[in-house]
Amino acid sequence: MKRKFETEVIHHGYDSKDFLGSLSAPIFQTSTYTFETAEQGERRFAGEEEGYIYSRLGNPTVNILEEKMALLENGEAALAFSSGMAAVSAVLVKLTKANDHILCSKGIYGCTFGLLDLMNEKYQIRSDFISMESEEEIEVAIQPNTTCIYIETPINPTMKIIDLEMVARVAEKYEIPVVVDNTFSSPYLQRPLDLGCDIVIHSATKYICGHGDVIAGIVVGNKDFISDVAMTTQKDIGGVISPFDSWLLLRGLKTLPLRMDRHSSNAEKVVEKLKEHPKVKKVFYPFDSDNPDYHIAKKQMSQGAGVISFEIEGDKAEAQALLNRLTFMKIAVSLGDAETIIQHPATMTHAVIPEEERLKMGISNSLIRMSCGLENWEDIWEDLQASLNLVGEHAHSS
Ligand SMILES: *Cc1c(COP(=O)(O)O)cnc(C)c1O
Repeated sequence: MKRKFETEVIHHGYDSKDFLGSLSAPIFQTSTYTFETAEQGERRFAGEEEGYIYSRLGNPTVNILEEKMALLENGEAALAFSSGMAAVSAVLVKLTKANDHILCSKGIYGCTFGLLDLMNEKYQIRSDFISMESEEEIEVAIQPNTTCIYIETPINPTMKIIDLEMVARVAEKYEIPVVVDNTFSSPYLQRPLDLGCDIVIHSATKYICGHGDVIAGIVVGNKDFISDVAMTTQKDIGGVISPFDSWLLLRGLKTLPLRMDRHSSNAEKVVEKLKEHPKVKKVFYPFDSDNPDYHIAKKQMSQGAGVISFEIEGDKAEAQALLNRLTFMKIAVSLGDAETIIQHPATMTHAVIPEEERLKMGISNSLIRMSCGLENWEDIWEDLQASLNLVGEHAHSS
């Protein structure tokens, strides 16, 4: 990175001189591009001449976003997708063939789990889920047909942290690519490629967008891998992002550092308060000094981001009542928006997981997950505290 992150996130990948002086990147709302001659069309299709052909294969607004994201993650190239899941699918399908094996961290995003299940059912691509706590545990789990190691960290919603440098070290020995879903940190707080991992995925719907108005995904990696994906699983499956959504992400990205600083500091303050509250049993946050993985978090993340989970002294009905009593905090899944949003994982984001398995993952009926927004933290805490104070105060039937 030539200049500091806060400068590059605004300027990199775009020069107004190339676009009639337009300060804001223009939205190229076009599906196709005209050729001056038939021969030029022939050269473009043959790859002998640079230039746009059709927006599923490339679009100037989308390319500005991709160039910016590549730099922010310190990768060679990037691709933007219509959703985080389109990005995950394009990568996993690219890296595997029938009868391969994928090694995953425990507790991955529900739809990613669903995709792996589908790949197993249709193509006998087996996945194993391990805690990835030590080199030995990973080495034992690697099979001769393992073609991908897939990680999420921090793990949602229990905020377990996986040591990315350690995993990358083991994977290198076996020449297995390491894919990291970096959605919960954003490149401002954690850059997996700098730690030796190979591919980064984002649900850009979350912190990259930051305003709760776009569904999108990003993949960052080396030039060969990215161009391979562009020419196969992106082009032929077709989960491409629209020019307008790319523009909204470019707009959101300009304030990413400011937003992540505020999300993190708000969350840290709320965590301190939650830990002192008598109705709170347990708090889960990467940068909480009581988190058993705190030392790993400190090593690879610069701040803890905005997501906090906590367990209350109460059952499912109490958890639901707590959510219902909140005033401005909204009940919603997703994360990384300006608004503080709160949800009940056992009945919402993690409802599809069989109860026994869910409890083993640490997701009890009294667990609540919140994404700290950009509001004043004292207002967030006041709303939450008022509702927490009433936990267990009312008789209920359940
Ligand atoms: C939301 C999310 C996804 C899926 O992204 P979409 O944009 O909703 O398709 C994948 N991974 C993580 C960690 C997420 O939070």
